[in-house]
Amino acid sequence: MIKLKNSVENLEAYFVNDIPCRVKLDANEGSNYLLNEGLCFDDLKANLYPDSDSVELREKLSLYYNCKSENILMGNGSSELINMVINAYCEKGEKVLSFIPSFSMYQTYCDLCGATYIGVNTNEDFTQDIDKLIEKVNELNPKIVILCNPNNPTGYITPRNDVIKLLDSVKNSLIIVDEAYADFFENSVVDLINSYENLIVMRTLSKAFGLAGLRVGSLIANENLVKYVWKVKVPYNLNILSQYGALKALNSIELVKSYIQNIKDLRLKLSQDLRNLNFTVYESGANFIFTKSPVDNLFEKLMSCGVLIRKFNFNGKVYNRITIGTKEENEILLEEIKNIIEG
Ligand SMILES: *Cc1c(COP(=O)(O)O)cnc(C)c1O
Repeated sequence: MIKLKNSVENLEAYFVNDIPCRVKLDANEGSNYLLNEGLCFDDLKANLYPDSDSVELREKLSLYYNCKSENILMGNGSSELINMVINAYCEKGEKVLSFIPSFSMYQTYCDLCGATYIGVNTNEDFTQDIDKLIEKVNELNPKIVILCNPNNPTGYITPRNDVIKLLDSVKNSLIIVDEAYADFFENSVVDLINSYENLIVMRTLSKAFGLAGLRVGSLIANENLVKYVWKVKVPYNLNILSQYGALKALNSIELVKSYIQNIKDLRLKLSQDLRNLNFTVYESGANFIFTKSPVDNLFEKLMSCGVLIRKFNFNGKVYNRITIGTKEENEILLEEIKNIIEG
């Protein structure tokens, strides 16, 4: 075999577990409510390249994100954009700082390009000490700081004042605020992109819009920064079907608000029901909850009855992240948990 370059030779490939299940609450995907009647592609010109700049889509998204289309760069999911930015900014060995636990992909993308990922521990209850992060930035002088808000997998909401404190304190690093779940908690800092020249906000249609399969993400920043990063965008990165589907979905934007409200109501109910069963449930600003189960091996036991959640190990303890499903899905989850507890 021809050898890969040294920096990637020893990496483990990222495989997504696609265990068959009847209730899927492991990946924070939303319901299929915007395109539930399918898509009609009759007038689609598949022979032509897609609009490489996603002009129409950026126009439409700028209304939702409350910025100008010039502030947006589209990606094949926000994952592509996070990878693109880390790869474009970090020389081998340059540092990327983030709270830990947070989104595990940050580490993956750092490994891919040879950047050094450094996690700053959250408090024991998974709240975050922003002063500690700022202190580490001053000490280590990273190229990039990533703040996931609300945080995946813990659901923690960084108060707006803390985000501003970070922005005011850090001038020599790029600051990425990953707002994959910000639709569920009106705490976005998109309104600050013109006040901080080093701020990049990442948004996605994969969670609150329930369009994870279309792979549509947005990088939002001031115009100069967007133009600057545009240099490394792969041409035609958003295919014709994704652009078409996203535009169609965005015609029903009023449905998104009620969907989000519904998820919040269901989150409150599921949190209470689980607390009644002696679970620890951390406060969450997203479409999932982070929990500590009173029974061992909950993940494995639920999987054996067709309910898929996520399992995490932190400091030698096991936690579970559970996506808020539909009312019916949450009822099945609770039923199975009760069965497990009663043994
Ligand atoms: C889901 C998720 C993303 C990536 O979403 P895409 O599907 O690639 O747009 C990015 N960050 C966090 C924290 C996520 O949970």
